[in-house]
Amino acid sequence: MLRRSGVYIIASIILLFAVTHIIFSPAEHSPRTIIPTMIGGSAFLLMTTSIVLSTRLNYLEDWFGGLDRMYQVHRVAGVFAAILVLIHMISAPKTLPLDADPDLYSVFPSAVLGKIALVLLVIGLFLALNRKIGYSRWRPTHKSMVLVYLLATGHFLTAPGLFFQLSSPSGIVLIIAVVIGVPCAFYTVLGMNKRTSLPFTIEAVNNLERATELVLKATDKMPEFKPGQFAFLEIEGSGWDEPHPFTISSSPQENRLRFTVKVLGDWTRKVREELEPGRQALIRGPYGRFDYEKAGDRQVWLAGGIGITPFLSMIRAMDNKNNKEIYLLYAAREQKDALYLEELTGKIASLPQVSIVPIYSEQGCFARVDIMKKKLPDPLNSYDFFLCGPKPMIDGIRADLYKEGVPRPRIHTEAFEFR
Ligand SMILES: Cc1cc2nc3c(=O)[nH]c(=O)nc-3n(C[C@H](O)[C@H](O)[C@H](O)COP(=O)(O)OP(=O)(O)OC[C@H]3O[C@@H](n4cnc5c(N)ncnc54)[C@H](O)[C@@H]3O)c2cc1C
Repeated sequence: MLRRSGVYIIASIILLFAVTHIIFSPAEHSPRTIIPTMIGGSAFLLMTTSIVLSTRLNYLEDWFGGLDRMYQVHRVAGVFAAILVLIHMISAPKTLPLDADPDLYSVFPSAVLGKIALVLLVIGLFLALNRKIGYSRWRPTHKSMVLVYLLATGHFLTAPGLFFQLSSPSGIVLIIAVVIGVPCAFYTVLGMNKRTSLPFTIEAVNNLERATELVLKATDKMPEFKPGQFAFLEIEGSGWDEPHPFTISSSPQENRLRFTVKVLGDWTRKVREELEPGRQALIRGPYGRFDYEKAGDRQVWLAGGIGITPFLSMIRAMDNKNNKEIYLLYAAREQKDALYLEELTGKIASLPQVSIVPIYSEQGCFARVDIMKKKLPDPLNSYDFFLCGPKPMIDGIRADLYKEGVPRPRIHTEAFEFR
């Protein structure tokens, strides 16, 4: 669930900027100048938001409710920034006032920087929102958005004072944004977040049905994590490219990290076909707020296929002190696709409050709200829901649960997709 504190903070900063910009504008500035610059400044603050969120700094997760929610806000901020930039450009005065010295202002590249930034922003957003572009090709193009940010910074820092005054209260808000945003931009683009990664050795690569289990041994130390959290896995060596997110499927008590990787594209296929034990890896995390312990006492966990991984970690870590009544609905094509079913069934037999209900599509049983109603003893709004799996499935079930009257804060999701 999106926690709103982060969004409220961003909205308050933009509001503060807009209000101070209007109230403290020099008397000689006309509305024709004040409004477009206010729109442009707001766009810059949204871009800064997007840049700050792209750092994936762990402590920001608390303000937004998890990394996936941070990415949602990152995306929305980017889109709104582009719209505002466009309005800013259309509405900004095109000519200098009559009493301004044209020679003096011709040396400022402000307008040129702004126009280049706009063109790159529109191209960048088109690429970012185009799902046909594969992730590994999309990622480097997306990083070029940092250039847009630097151009936008140059644009307003060099804006002629008769359009925008840096020493005004709203100017100071933008300068503070630059002081935060520019280091964040470099932090992201130079991959400095690697420094917070922990080194591991891949100890075992186990082939499962349409998936691969990786067992990793810490070279230095194990990260502290809660069941349900995920981490970025980066395999060292040429051809392995960028880090990929995977849920940690082991329990925190184990002195190894386990990931279960389903083949979905080139990278995951390479894991299955080429990865050998002994290779070095970096782990960055943990991330995520998919935490059943903080939710109500009666819960439904729905796993769609490989979406079993967070629940696997939760069950592996669980003992008899668990006081939640849990129904784990495990949706798979058929029994042989239900990974770890035997282990889960064995462990759940010793947990009186937990039951597992397999749902096989080959038998005409699907991960749908009508099937849930049949399988659960009480009405749907008696439970908290934890949904994990492919994004279309999660989105569909969440929408149906709302329709059934399950309140929004009681539906917790982990969709295996950020874009
Ligand atoms: C929070 C989270 C937890 C996940 N946990 C698991 C898990 O436990 N087991 C599992 O099998 N899969 C998990 N996934 C999905 C897994 O990350 C992708 O299947 C994998 O990265 C696909 O890579 P690919 O190159 O093989 O496929 P591609 O075809 O290139 O990508 C398929 C989709 O995966 C996403 N993706 C690809 N590369 C990346 C990347 N570097 N960073 C972020 N997203 C990327 C994109 O949305 C892309 O559209 C998880 C995803 C997320 C977001």
